[in-house]
Amino acid sequence: MKTEIVKIENIEAERERAALQRAGILLRQGGLVVFPTETVYGLGADATDANAAKKIYAAKGRPSDNPLIVHVAAPEDAEQYASVPPLYWRLAETFMPGPLTVIMPVKESIPKTVTAGLSTVAIRCPSHPVAHALLLAAGVPIAAPSANLSGSPSPTCAAHVIDDMNGRVDMILDGGDCDIGVESTIVKIEPDETLTLLRPGGITQEMLEAVAGKIQIAEAVLGSLPEGAVALSPGMKYRHYAPRAPLFLLDGTAAQMADYIKQQTGRVAMLCYEEERTIFETFLKADRCFSLGERKNRKRQAQRLFFLLREIDKLNFDAIYAPLPPTDDIGMALYNRMIRAAAHHIVHLQEGM
Ligand code: AMP
Ligand code: MG
Repeated sequence: MKTEIVKIENIEAERERAALQRAGILLRQGGLVVFPTETVYGLGADATDANAAKKIYAAKGRPSDNPLIVHVAAPEDAEQYASVPPLYWRLAETFMPGPLTVIMPVKESIPKTVTAGLSTVAIRCPSHPVAHALLLAAGVPIAAPSANLSGSPSPTCAAHVIDDMNGRVDMILDGGDCDIGVESTIVKIEPDETLTLLRPGGITQEMLEAVAGKIQIAEAVLGSLPEGAVALSPGMKYRHYAPRAPLFLLDGTAAQMADYIKQQTGRVAMLCYEEERTIFETFLKADRCFSLGERKNRKRQAQRLFFLLREIDKLNFDAIYAPLPPTDDIGMALYNRMIRAAAHHIVHLQEGM
C-alpha cells in the first residue's frame, strides 16, 4: 500500500487543514492513519468499525487478545462508549485532555475487536493539537495502540514511525517529536469506585492519589507477572519495548557500573546519565555512550528512552547496559518500560548482594 506522509506544523494552515480532512475521510472509510499524540505516535482506525480495527492488529502484527485504547475528542464523549462512573468525571476535570487512559465497563457501540472481547473499554482524550484536530475531522472515536511493530519500542518521532509503518497504513501525520515519550498512564475504575494503576506514565501515582485517594498498583507494574497469573491489562504480559540487542539494567553506583562494564566483552553500549558520561567514556568509545539526560531530569529520561533504544538498535551492539531507575514519580513509568525492555534482566552490583 502507498502511504501518504504529511508534515503538520500548523493545524490552521490551509494545506494542513486539507490533509487533516483527508485523514478524517480515510478513517471514516475504514482506513488506517498514524498520528502524533503527547505520549507516543498512535496507529488509528474508526473505533466503531470492527473491520477497520482488525486492520490495526494486522499492520502491527499485534496479538488479537491485546485490546486497543479508544481516543475521544472531548471527555464527555466517553458516555457514548462506556458506562461512566462518577470518579471518571473527577479524573477528567484534572487530567483531560492529557496522557491518562481510563478503563470502564464497555457499551455496545464498541465492537469486540477493539476490546479483545473484554467487558471493559479503555478511553483517552489526547491533548496533542494534531490528535485533537484529527478526532474532530474524523467525527468518530479513534481506536489506536502505539504505532510500532508489535514488540519494538513505541515511536516518539516521525522517522521511527516511518521505519515501522511505511507501506502498512494509508497515511502518516508527522507532528514532530512527542513530549512525554512513554505511553499514557492506564487506570481502571473498580466497581467500588477505587482506582487500580495498570500502566504508569506521565500522570503519576502521586498525581492520581491527590484526586482519587489511595490507589492500588497492579502487580505487573513493578514486577514480573507470576507464572499462570492473568494480566489485568493484557498488554503487560508481552515482551515489550524491546531492542534487538539484549538490555541489562545495572543496580549500583556509577563506579560499580563502570567496573562491571569493563569486564564485558563484545561491542557494548551504555545508556547513562549525562553527569556520568565521562566516567564511561574513559574506557568505552564516546560513540558507545548514550546520555539519557541529567540524573534528576526524569521527564527528559522518559522522553528519550524509546528514541534512544531504537537509535542504538540500528548500530548493532552485542549488549546494551543502563542504570536501573528509581520507582518514584515518573520514574515508575521509566522503571516499568525498562524492566520489560530488559526482559527483567537486572544485575545487582550493590555491596552485600
Ligand atoms: P498501547 O497503547 O499500544 O500500549 O496499547 C494499549 C494498552 O491498553 C495495552 O497495554 C492494553 O492491554 C491496554 N488496554 C486496552 N484496553 C484495555 C482494557 N479494557 N482493560 C485493560 N487494559 C486495556
Ligand atoms: Mg504499544
